[in-house]
Amino acid sequence: MFGKIALIGIGLIGSSIARDVKALGLAKDVTISTRSADTLKRAEELELGTSYTVSALEAVKDADLVIVSVPVGASGAVAEQIAPALKKGAILTDVGSTKASVIAQMSPFVPEGVHFIPGHPLAGTEKSGPDAGFEGLFTGRWCIFTPLPDTDADALAKLRAFWEALGSRCDEMDPQHHDKVLAIVSHLPHIIAYNIVGTADDLETVTESEVIKYSASGFRDFTRLAASDPTMWRDVCLHNRDAILEMLARFSEDLAYLQRAIRWGEGDKLFDLFTRTRAIRRSIVQAGQDVDAPDFGRHGAPKKD
Ligand code: NAP
Repeated sequence: MFGKIALIGIGLIGSSIARDVKALGLAKDVTISTRSADTLKRAEELELGTSYTVSALEAVKDADLVIVSVPVGASGAVAEQIAPALKKGAILTDVGSTKASVIAQMSPFVPEGVHFIPGHPLAGTEKSGPDAGFEGLFTGRWCIFTPLPDTDADALAKLRAFWEALGSRCDEMDPQHHDKVLAIVSHLPHIIAYNIVGTADDLETVTESEVIKYSASGFRDFTRLAASDPTMWRDVCLHNRDAILEMLARFSEDLAYLQRAIRWGEGDKLFDLFTRTRAIRRSIVQAGQDVDAPDFGRHGAPKKD
């Protein structure tokens, strides 16, 4: 599909792309670049590419496709570093979880003749680093592009074909809309998880060993989200601030409604809400975004309770 692909950042997402590219033979050369010598060495040990360098500038030379997979707060600095070596006609994309901020950070550095197409695969886990990636991570998952008004249609079609080859379903959105949608489906749930796990950690009347011992009764599902990479999620919060604050305000109002219903014993209100939310879960399973297995769709989890 491409002569040379350059992967800038080789953590969970970058290394999953590398594994798929290798398995599917989507490029002749795959150059991997990451800022630390340790991560680069690990990528080389895992044989994720065909060449390796700590210099992002060096990596993008002659590349037909450049994929930036670093925390969103670092996107601008990476774009500035690689800009002088980007080939005319190359496609430059990213995988960042926020889009308006990434566009604002990267666009000013994109040279004339380079096709910058921001993207976001909606796939991941709470793990990070090159060992965390795996082949097939993107299979059946959405990849959203937020093209700019002057995005070249052929370049977009080529990038779309690349992600489809990785098994993704592709969609396009306006960056601001993307950031709002992701604030509710991903960012807010992570913030709530960080908060609830933090609250449990701070409780004085329930011991930490009890929290761990009895976690299967609901808490455990939050701990998976709350184990996500702190750097990535700090950057998501800082770079999707407005949409997240808007969703948090709405969430707090709805929580107050729930609190009132519990205080005043309004069982009907509780029952109605819990019935409505159950239907959403069913729709997600029907849409193929999760499986209807017990244990919240996680196969193989130990059944201790
Ligand atoms: P990761 O596993 O933590 O890997 C991060 C990579 O970026 C590493 O190669 C790291 O290099 C490099 N990096 C970290 N800080 C950097 C900086 N300041 N400047 C330059 N490079 C830096 O992260 P990931 O989960 O793959 O996430 C990468 C991107 O994908 C993020 O923008 C995230 O929002 C997005 N994303 C993540 C998920 C998910 O579930 N994890 C899902 C969809 C999209 P060193 O190791 O050499 O320091």
